[in-house]
Amino acid sequence: MFEKLIRELEQLERNQLKVDVTDSVPIDLEGYIDRECPASDCLFTFKVLAADWWSDKVKDEAAYCPFCGHEAPARSWFTTEQVEYQKAKAMGVLTNIIDEAMEADASEWNQRQRRNAFIKITMNVSKAPREVILPVSAADPMRLKISCEKCACQYAVVGSAFFCPACGTSAAEHVFRQSLSAVRASVASLPAVRASVSDADTAENLCRLILEAGLQNVVMAFQRFAEALYERHSRTHKKPRRNAFQNLDEGSDLWKEAFGTKYDVHLSEIDLSALNIFFQQRHLLAHLEGIIDQKYIEKSGDTRYLVGQRIVLRQDSVLRCLELTENLARGMAQDAGVQF
Ligand SMILES: [Zn+2]
Ligand SMILES: [Zn+2]
Repeated sequence: MFEKLIRELEQLERNQLKVDVTDSVPIDLEGYIDRECPASDCLFTFKVLAADWWSDKVKDEAAYCPFCGHEAPARSWFTTEQVEYQKAKAMGVLTNIIDEAMEADASEWNQRQRRNAFIKITMNVSKAPREVILPVSAADPMRLKISCEKCACQYAVVGSAFFCPACGTSAAEHVFRQSLSAVRASVASLPAVRASVSDADTAENLCRLILEAGLQNVVMAFQRFAEALYERHSRTHKKPRRNAFQNLDEGSDLWKEAFGTKYDVHLSEIDLSALNIFFQQRHLLAHLEGIIDQKYIEKSGDTRYLVGQRIVLRQDSVLRCLELTENLARGMAQDAGVQF
């Protein structure tokens, strides 16, 4: 009775169902497509210039999440919405095949019934109303656009990005600038924090924490930036000691070996000693809860404090640290031949 249906089902079992889903990855107004990290605890959504994603820049075997760095084959980056659309479209094609086969079986069966038979069984196929599958639309363009320094792949994110989706390279310069603007923005938010927290002690503590975290973030961002530049562009193939770039003297010596210039080409002696104090303060905040020890006084030359006191960070100090770090980094990028 169901010969055609059985044949179709057997054929489906042998061959995979082929559904054209080329329209499941729409391109937005700026030429970018939506992608989503397949790591279940990340699911970061981002955009890649369509021309880059479908070119040799992105390898079939590996693409990378700009946020968490997860690596997966290029076919694994469909967004939830794109996958849902593909499933709905495949279901539609499947339902069509089954409906048509059943209709053919029914009409063949009905034709075989003898006209004057005493009992006549006819078969009627009633089709469920079809759902209309709306094509996916691309999400709105994202403002933050990044071009990879290494492979030139262009991608866009909301918030932060740390890796290139095509080559996985850490976007060091971009991440560095991103960290500095985050610190700048949090310092700028201090009046709003003071105004919105009614308890004066809590408000002051919160502001102190923001400033201390800001200083630490600037120094850490600089360290990662310097490491990345050194690793990629250094003329020597020496591997520096871990955290070497947290120390300005040591970093400056390494830089001279690698690029021929010391930090003092980029910052005056006064600026360098001011920056050295900030770098040493970061060490105190990270390891000694901000309490001054003898080593701090020796290494920083900061005589404003006695051992056992706690450092006091003001807003202008954090901004000054940020400015000096940025100036130094700009010079270092020049040394390494990198756009800043
Ligand atoms: Zn991810
Ligand atoms: Zn890249």
